[in-house]
Amino acid sequence: YYSPDTVAFLDGAFVPAAQATCGVYAQSLHYGYAVFEGMRSYRTPAGPRIFKAEAHYERLHYSCRAIGLPLTYPVAELTRLSYEVLERNGLQDAYIRPLVFAGAPNMSLQAAATSNVLIAVWEWGKYLGDQSLRLTISPYERPNPRAVPIEAKVAGHYVNSIVASTEAKGRGFDEALLLDMNGFVAEGPGANFFFERGGELFTPPAGSILRGITRNTLIDLARAAGIRVTETFFTATELRTAEAAFMTGTAAEVIGIASVDEVVFPRPFADSIGGQLAERYHALVTGQLVAVGS
Ligand code: PMP
Repeated sequence: YYSPDTVAFLDGAFVPAAQATCGVYAQSLHYGYAVFEGMRSYRTPAGPRIFKAEAHYERLHYSCRAIGLPLTYPVAELTRLSYEVLERNGLQDAYIRPLVFAGAPNMSLQAAATSNVLIAVWEWGKYLGDQSLRLTISPYERPNPRAVPIEAKVAGHYVNSIVASTEAKGRGFDEALLLDMNGFVAEGPGANFFFERGGELFTPPAGSILRGITRNTLIDLARAAGIRVTETFFTATELRTAEAAFMTGTAAEVIGIASVDEVVFPRPFADSIGGQLAERYHALVTGQLVAVGS
């Protein structure tokens, strides 16, 4: 992720990433009380462009509010700092990880009075690769939205993602697909889920999922192409009637799904709506296609 030359932004300064450290009494380290974002910068004809930086930083602010963690940097300043971190590292195609954490020594369970801000960058290929994935329904559910603010991108929520993903891989699958507390399909450990049937797309509604910025983008791209998208609850059993499926996320981008447990989707990703939209997504993020929708 970093070499001796890599620079990160930490609390007002650009420092060698290797020296951007956090104390062992940090509240965030003990309790997972931190929020983060994941965004990507792409090389475009107009130079490096962070795709939907504002939407990501607005979600970062939303996540901080949801857990009562202060964040004093406005969206525009965070965006500017992100470009500066990229530039100082000479990166165009890169993944950007802003992290707001409670770094002060504090072992209490009171919301922190101050926070720290890290912006780290690294080069990262498509997080889940580019081959269609074999998913399995996880025995772990997504966290109950009445127990934690699940629409916020909170560090501690990712324990659920890690245990689910590790368990799925332990059974020989590529990735997990998690249900919500009512037994409906929710999302992957780090990506949203869509399926195709009868020329239309279906995806779980907000409530037990992270409202993915890539998910929104795919919905906009589909609707701009005249493809109907329905946000609705569905069970894993209903996937038997699906013709194809895919997942979306900043790190994963748009990735095909070959199967969910014993249900194999008949249409190859390349011939599916998801496959077509993946090409448009790539054109959009690399500046070859003019923006659509939100
Ligand atoms: N769900 C979860 C649990 C995630 O971690 C992510 C990645 N941020 C997503 C969905 C996709 O969100 P986005 O498209 O905003 O990256």
